[in-house]
Amino acid sequence: MHKLIIIGSGPAGWAAAIYAARADLAPLLIAGSDLGGQVALTEQVENYPGFPQGISGAELAQLMQEQAERFGTRVELDEVVEVDLSTPPFKVKTYSQEYEAQALIVATGTSPRKLQVPGEAEFAGRGVSYCATCDGFFFRDQRVVVVGGGDAAVKEALFLTKFATKVYIVHRRDQLRAEQIIQERAKRNEKIEFIWDTVVTEIVGGENVTGVRLKNLESGQESLLPAEGVFIYVGHAPNTALFEGELELDGDGYIVTDLEQRTSVPGVFAAGDVQERVLRQIATAVGTGAKAAMEAERYIAELEDRAYPGWKPLEL
Ligand code: NDP
Repeated sequence: MHKLIIIGSGPAGWAAAIYAARADLAPLLIAGSDLGGQVALTEQVENYPGFPQGISGAELAQLMQEQAERFGTRVELDEVVEVDLSTPPFKVKTYSQEYEAQALIVATGTSPRKLQVPGEAEFAGRGVSYCATCDGFFFRDQRVVVVGGGDAAVKEALFLTKFATKVYIVHRRDQLRAEQIIQERAKRNEKIEFIWDTVVTEIVGGENVTGVRLKNLESGQESLLPAEGVFIYVGHAPNTALFEGELELDGDGYIVTDLEQRTSVPGVFAAGDVQERVLRQIATAVGTGAKAAMEAERYIAELEDRAYPGWKPLEL
């Protein structure tokens, strides 16, 4: 029986682990299939305070893990396949073990959304990618298409200019959603060409990708754009399949939490992107992770009948 299990190893999970370990909860963190979460796949992080020159996402994730382990977090490199939150203690089943915990923090984050066009699944790993940091290197001296207009699309397009001869950003509108500073950098970059008001309708190729079919949403005109790589950044969906029927989710599948990171089940807390509707950033993930850990500590203290001044359950 563990006092606290944290599911997920992104910034929210690590922050929760650091705070919980320092509160003597000896947390068990189950890392999931992508150790470090999305940040570990980000080439450079420039907006997280404390790193004025920026820091690589992988290095930041590694530092967070080191800090959590230094204070006594136990990390399991395993994936949760089932949870039972119906009655405490909560049951958490992974590929290799079954655990029980008095309290649980869910920090399972989000995963890249699929474009859902013909050719996407067929050419996955043969020209179609969701991670420029992982796969950009393979496109040296080639042409790539980036789909999307958010922070991820524009940042990763900039990263891809290190390798590719040409980076086309195909966006369905004529305005980007990305941060202004990143937009300006992309607009100044000679390797980047924007294709506005346009969607990818199909990814084509033989052995590997050779191009994308495009449709201009204003004129209806269709065209074929030759390219060897297609990087898809059309947003993210929350990783909450495990919690359907266990926790209250909103219409888009995000976990509903109150201001104290409490979910619909007392003793289960959620932090980071999996419950974030406003600003999905490392800074917010870390903040909610810390809050979830401190609230879990209060909850466990109450279970153990220790002093717990000033706490009253909130209505969701
Ligand atoms: P976003 O939701 O911000 O952007 C998704 C983009 O994909 C939008 O431009 C959207 O178009 C487009 N899109 C969505 N569906 C489709 C579709 N079916 N076909 C074509 N285009 C589509 O997602 P991101 O992954 O970029 O970012 C997620 C979160 O992570 C955001 O909060 C972001 O700020 C944050 N982030 C921050 C970074 C940073 O360095 N600060 C880096 C990366 C992510 P439209 O604009 O028309 O809706």
